[in-house]
Formats: sequence, C-alpha cells, structure tokens
Amino acid sequence: MKKELPKVVIVGGGYGGIIVSKQLEKILKPGEADVTLINKHNYHYITTQLHKTSAGTSPDNRVALNIPDLLQKNKINFVKGTVYDIDFEEKRVYLDHQGALEYDYLLIAPGFDVNTFGIPGVDEYAFKIRSFRNSKSIHHHIIHQFKSFKEDHDLSRLTFAVAGAGFTGIEMIGELVDAIPRLCREFDIPVHKTRIINIEATDAILPFFDKKAIDFTKNYLKKHDVEVMTSTKIVECKRDSVVLDNGYSIPCRTLIWSCGVRGNRLLEKLNLPLVRGKVEVDEYLRVKGMEDVFCIGDAAHSLDRDGRPHGATAQVAIQQAQTCGPNIAAVLRGQPLKPFVYKHKGTVASIGSRAGVGNVFGLKITGLFASFMKQIVEARYLFILGGPFFMTKQMLKPASNVFMETAPTRNK
Ligand SMILES: Cc1cc2nc3c(=O)[nH]c(=O)nc-3n(C[C@H](O)[C@H](O)[C@H](O)COP(=O)(O)OP(=O)(O)OC[C@H]3O[C@@H](n4cnc5c(N)ncnc54)[C@H](O)[C@@H]3O)c2cc1C
Repeated sequence: MKKELPKVVIVGGGYGGIIVSKQLEKILKPGEADVTLINKHNYHYITTQLHKTSAGTSPDNRVALNIPDLLQKNKINFVKGTVYDIDFEEKRVYLDHQGALEYDYLLIAPGFDVNTFGIPGVDEYAFKIRSFRNSKSIHHHIIHQFKSFKEDHDLSRLTFAVAGAGFTGIEMIGELVDAIPRLCREFDIPVHKTRIINIEATDAILPFFDKKAIDFTKNYLKKHDVEVMTSTKIVECKRDSVVLDNGYSIPCRTLIWSCGVRGNRLLEKLNLPLVRGKVEVDEYLRVKGMEDVFCIGDAAHSLDRDGRPHGATAQVAIQQAQTCGPNIAAVLRGQPLKPFVYKHKGTVASIGSRAGVGNVFGLKITGLFASFMKQIVEARYLFILGGPFFMTKQMLKPASNVFMETAPTRNK
C-alpha cells in the first residue's frame, strides 16, 4: 500500500504563499510531503504593480503570471479556489464549490483587505486597488469615462481623484500623471479639461519618507498640475461626486480609494487570535498557540525585536516566506525552527515611469534614479521567484494584455 504523505496546504498565492511554495519545491525531497497551493485565481499578481494596471500603464503579462507555469507540477499541486472556512480541529480547509482539503500543516497567507473606515458610499462607488481584477476594472472605468465624455461632455468624467497620499496613493497619482495626457491624445480631448486630485485627511504626504523625498514629490505633483488637498477628509462618496468635510463637493466619477489596509476578512471568521484584524504569530511565524498552522504577509501580526509590528509590505511578506518555507520543512523533519528576523533593505515609491523617491541601504534617492531603482527591486523579485533565466524572459517578453483565467484548475 502507498504510504500516506504528510499534507501541507498553503492558502493564498501572493508574495508570501508563492515564495513558500517555491521554497518547499526546492527543499523537500520527493516523497517527503504532499504540498498544495490554493489561490483564488490561476495567476499570481505582482501587487506592487497594481497601480500600473489600474492606470493602464503596464501590460497585463508583466503583472499577472500564470501560477501553473511558476511551479514544478510534480512537486506542488495547485488548486484554483476560494477558501471560505478552516476547521482547525478536523484540520480541513473548505473551498467554495469544491469541498474540502485536509492538511497536517497549514500556511495562511490570504493578504489584505482595503480599509474603508465605514465612510458612506466608499464600498459602493469608490474603486479599490485590491487585486488584479479590481485594478483592471479601474482601467476599464477610466477608458469608459473618456468615451462617454465624447458623447455627453460631462466634466465630472474627466476628474480623477485618489484618496490617500501615502505610499500607494502617491504611486497611483504618479501613474495617472503619465496616463491621462496619453488618453487625452487618444480621445482628442484637451488635457486642460481633466483634473487629477489627491485628497488626504492628514496634513502630510508620504509619511515615513524624509523631507527631501516629500519636497521632491510635492514639486513633481505641482509641476504636473495635480491638486493636492491635505487636511481634507472625505465624508461621502457618491456615484458622481465626492463630498468633503469642508462643505465642498467635487463633481467626480472616479475616486480611487487608497487609505490603508487591514487583514483579509476571511481571518475574522476563523476564531484565531487577532490584533487589528491580523493573526498573532510567534517568532517562528506560527499562529499563537498552534504548532501546525503558520501565517505570514499582510494577514500576520508579527513583531520585531523591539515589539513593533512589521509593516504590510511585500518586502516583509517575501522575507517571512523565506523563513517560513524552511520552518515548514523543519517541522516535517522534526528539526528545530528558526525565528524570523526582518532586515529592512529600503523603500522606493515610483511616481510614474520617470520619477520616484526612496531610501536604499541608507542612501536617499529621488527622480529618475529612484525610478530605475524601483525597476531593480521589481526585477529582484522576479529573480527570487524564478532565477535569472525566468527574470530575463519575463522582462523581455513582448507586452500582451491577453488575460488568462482559463488554465486547468488543477495541475496534478
Ligand atoms: C498598489 C500597491 C502598491 C504596493 N507597493 C509596494 C511596494 O512598492 N513595496 C512593498 O514592499 N509593498 C508594496 N505594497 C504592499 C504589498 O503588495 C503587500 O504587502 C503584499 O502583497 C503582501 O503579500 P501577501 O502574500 O501577504 O498578500 P497578497 O500579495 O495580497 O496575496 C494574497 C493572495 O491570496 C489570495 N487570496 C485571498 N483570499 C483568498 C481566499 N479566501 N482563498 C484563496 N485565495 C485567497 C489572493 O487572490 C492573492 O493572490 C503595495 C500594495 C499595493 C496595493
């Protein structure tokens, strides 16, 4: 009779889940475990590029990668499905329309959800940079506004607002600065009829960045006629306007909501120890009080040596995955686990394709060089994901917007 192998199930194929899969692919010998990755879609999207998908400034095949192509089929099973519940007693993961999968060891890595702070109309009318699909819908909506303006000349269609002047908000604004003039040329609409507005509740843009970066960003936005409204709260979002706390209302049909993230809503259902919507984990990235369940990425509340929570960044998710993969292999082999130690390598925010700001290995950078460094960071991720050949192939492949949701649901 064939020996039952221990089952490892990974929920979520984002930065955390896919890198753990790649790690296990490398570390585990044939016959050591049966590893299955479950993800909502059959593609892995590069979340740090979703603002480009939203603005239509990057081809789909640079942002969404077919998961079965990333994994060795004989080592990792892939299941396309949405997890809606987990029974930790029975050790079962429940999938929409696909029954359940049993596990011996589980990794929870479903990422983030957008925080809307309960502001009326945001859920219904604002656009969220949540996933590849959401981002595509933002792009389609923007194109639709340009087409419709040609018919009804309603100027609210040409006003594009981004809520939040943090990292993601500024990156989104940067892409709009690139995309909107291009669309004006395509649709033969004068650029001066358009507005790009950044609305921020606090008095600061790019918190956590230094003064040089903030000044550079402010000047860049001013030069490109972006209206930055700081100390301004959005109190309601309607289909055709955004209502502000100063009594003004901006006629606008595109509000992109970029005001922070919280743990995935799935986590609330699971009866796990949560801190601000995220799962509390120990130093080995195991869920507090559980020996066989790990959690990483934006879903995890992990602390640094000074007791401060790690940020919700790709950099943290990737580094956690690089510790978690070997730790899962270690529990399978009955070996000791290694604690997670985060090493911050720097932060770079892009402002469109020709500018950026950041701090890399202690060096403050702005402008074109920062934009170049951002591309190096993205290339490095492709290197981690698939090695030098994969990275080069991915970077050189012809741009395509053919969107793949048709690959087999199971690659085994
Ligand atoms: C526009 C934007 C720009 C960013 N830029 C940067 C940056 O420059 N640098 C940086 O460090 N960080 C950046 N971040 C943050 C970074 O992207 C996240 O911290 C990172 O994606 C977290 O990785 P993760 O693996 O936890 O989750 P994710 O990458 O979000 O992956 C989660 C995966 O789980 C899947 N999933 C979710 N729920 C389920 C379910 N119930 N069942 C099955 N599958 C499920 C999702 O489809 C997804 O594939 C940015 C984020 C955004 C939105």
